[in-house]
Amino acid sequence: MGISGVRLVLLGKPGAGKGTQAALLSQHYGVEHLSTGDVFRSAVAQGTSVGLEVQRFMDTGELVPDEIVIRVVDEHFAEGGPLEDGFILDGFPRTLVQAQELEKVLAGHPLDVVLDIEVPTETILDRIAGRRVCVSCGATYHVNKAPTVDWTCDVCGGDVVQRDDDTEEAVATRLEVYGRQTVPIIEFYEKLGKLVVVNGDGDGDEVQERLLKEIDGRIDPTRR
Ligand SMILES: [Zn+2]
Repeated sequence: MGISGVRLVLLGKPGAGKGTQAALLSQHYGVEHLSTGDVFRSAVAQGTSVGLEVQRFMDTGELVPDEIVIRVVDEHFAEGGPLEDGFILDGFPRTLVQAQELEKVLAGHPLDVVLDIEVPTETILDRIAGRRVCVSCGATYHVNKAPTVDWTCDVCGGDVVQRDDDTEEAVATRLEVYGRQTVPIIEFYEKLGKLVVVNGDGDGDEVQERLLKEIDGRIDPTRR
């Protein structure tokens, strides 16, 4: 029997495979996978007042402020469902303030575990800086795993290129920002006794197995 209603947060550098793992875990435990982007889009689609504010920031490409991010998440949870049924948060909380506020939003439904998928910076740089993407269909390749014909997409024949934000310089900047914002979050969850660091090196299946072992090992067996 699986565990029901797990409440998880996934942390990890950009390129650590967080989104992929969150999707797999959401399937395994049958709980909602909540990425900040999804929650934002849903608020915008519903046209709530906070959704309209999010839209404004997304239109101008500005970072959505903590206070608004928290309101969106709070409203999403208030609709019922995920708090009781379980969820996996991916990309949230992104700042210490968001982590602190999340504790209030969750009142009575504490997080089971916060998983930090640890991948060495050199690996991330290789993964992302080596990535090439089809401009037409979005299929991804790697410099070590190129399409069959030149840099022409195997799927659709489109041009396969490096995206501007995948250059080594751009990735280094993103990693620097991530580190600055995330160290305090990691310390926060460490103090709460919720943090588990999982080795994110290796293929997706291996990482998935490590995550499942940590999660299952930390959840009260009466919930199975
Ligand atoms: Zn393509």
